[in-house]
Amino acid sequence: MAFAIHDAELRARLEPRAKPYFVRIADGLHLGYRKGKAVSRWVIRERRRGAYQTRTLRQVQPDDQFPADGVGVLNFQQVVEKMMSESNSKIRCSFCGKSRHEVAKLVAGPGVFICDGCITLCQLYIDHPAEDAKLLIEDGKAVLKDGEPVFVPFSKAELRQRKEMLAADP
Ligand SMILES: [Zn+2]
Repeated sequence: MAFAIHDAELRARLEPRAKPYFVRIADGLHLGYRKGKAVSRWVIRERRRGAYQTRTLRQVQPDDQFPADGVGVLNFQQVVEKMMSESNSKIRCSFCGKSRHEVAKLVAGPGVFICDGCITLCQLYIDHPAEDAKLLIEDGKAVLKDGEPVFVPFSKAELRQRKEMLAADP
């Protein structure tokens, strides 16, 4: 079972226990949250040469009582970024499959990642439902012109034509 450790509010509902609550980040790479009665810690479990190694991050604390500052208090996203920078694991965008080296930013969710490009694409879909406009997408990317997404709206005639084509399809 996957535990919701990405959110401080959800972590507050977990029972204190000796065994950390783990979530999978990538193949052979897991992030854990060890919930103590007084002190809680992030725990990293990584497979190296066939064996799992677990280490507790003692220099930082989860953002349970204090807001994350990226230095001494790390939230889920920040601790995953730390893991990514220290690990050789192949971490990829769950949507387009690009590695973290091919994108500007990978945002972590519980067991999934999304890159900045896919976030832009999602936002475009949300802002512009495909009813009467279409995104210009080449090689799975929204085409940008001068930093702005380019839209190619269907004309009414084109829409009618498409509907007729679909209707005529046996
Ligand atoms: Zn992506």
